[in-house]
Amino acid sequence: MNDFRIAQPKTVDELAALLTETTEKTALLAGGTDLVDELKTGVATPALVVDLQTVAGLAGIARDKDGLRVGAMTRVVDLAENADVARDFPVLRQAALSLATPQLRNVGTVGGNLCQRPRCWYYRDSLVPCRKKGGYNCFAYQGRSKYHGIFGGQGCFIVFPSDLAPALISLGARATIGGGRADKVVPLEEFYILPGVDVLRETVLENGQFLKDVRVPAPKPGQKGAYVKLKERGAWDFALVSAAVTGVVSGGALAQVSIVMGGVAPVPWRLKAAEDVLRGKTVTAALIRQAADEALKEASPLRENGYKLDLVRAALKEAVLAVAA
Ligand SMILES: Cc1cc2nc3c(=O)[nH]c(=O)nc-3n(C[C@H](O)[C@H](O)[C@H](O)COP(=O)(O)OP(=O)(O)OC[C@H]3O[C@@H](n4cnc5c(N)ncnc54)[C@H](O)[C@@H]3O)c2cc1C
Ligand code: SF4
Repeated sequence: MNDFRIAQPKTVDELAALLTETTEKTALLAGGTDLVDELKTGVATPALVVDLQTVAGLAGIARDKDGLRVGAMTRVVDLAENADVARDFPVLRQAALSLATPQLRNVGTVGGNLCQRPRCWYYRDSLVPCRKKGGYNCFAYQGRSKYHGIFGGQGCFIVFPSDLAPALISLGARATIGGGRADKVVPLEEFYILPGVDVLRETVLENGQFLKDVRVPAPKPGQKGAYVKLKERGAWDFALVSAAVTGVVSGGALAQVSIVMGGVAPVPWRLKAAEDVLRGKTVTAALIRQAADEALKEASPLRENGYKLDLVRAALKEAVLAVAA
């Protein structure tokens, strides 16, 4: 582990000022379940670690008529156990409960989950200078690609590992970005960027910025949701493929539907083509097959991950049927 200094700002203003003024290579520390591993292995080498635990006002869940505000420092366990989340946003509760282990949910935060770094084994090896670390090659492309993406690769084939991100995007959540002159609010879907935009980062966050909160709009009448996570192991694991579906059934048909997959692309991957097939129709197994066929036209599996095509079909079917039931 490299030496680094720690700063512990007390307020959001102090945090913003510190991040604006510093010229050092900086990392933000939330629960540390991901960052500390990167520090120990030398994948992350900041000169300054900024501890968000000491910043007042970044944690907490608040409900009003417009929806839910979830502070970035809210622990995953608090999201999973929140009564408003359980009642109004089942897709989010299911995603939170599927995440890692009780111990990690007790420590890990929502902001850390949404900003976590990729799990690609080449990226996580500090001795491998792949494109994501400023090198010239993607070693997964010709190498071991079992856990990599089938959509949106653009020279780096990571999958974005968060369980919360697909669920929140399916709910139409927005992200508040702090730092700089004023807060900025963007749809969470647009918070993530593809490697073709910048292979070195996964989000729009620039130096000096941080995720402040996410806001989930109030549920529409009759809104339902389901999160299906397919894993290699029965115990804790990252998703091989996951499907977050939020929809409204009216008159027996799926009047509105939003589908976001995890584990398949460098960003949470919206299946707009599948949504177009399903919208306004009565759901049947044949219609879901047709929706999956449309969505998978865009897929380009690597040498070892063609099996994900079948998993996309299975996760999509299970989640859509749960919402349409
Ligand atoms: C064994 C294990 C299993 C896991 N399983 C899962 C799983 O099944 N599903 C899943 O989704 N995740 C999983 N994770 C990943 C991750 O640790 C958790 O998702 C956790 O919620 C991350 O939160 P944290 O607060 O610990 O983040 P940290 O480790 O503190 O931070 C993670 C990253 O986000 C950045 N960051 C943190 N907060 C902010 C902020 N407010 N603004 C900007 N950047 C920020 C940090 O700088 C760092 O780069 C797992 C991790 C481990 C070690
Ligand atoms: S998939 Fe991305 S992170 Fe993994 S080796 Fe290729 S460039 Fe590096």
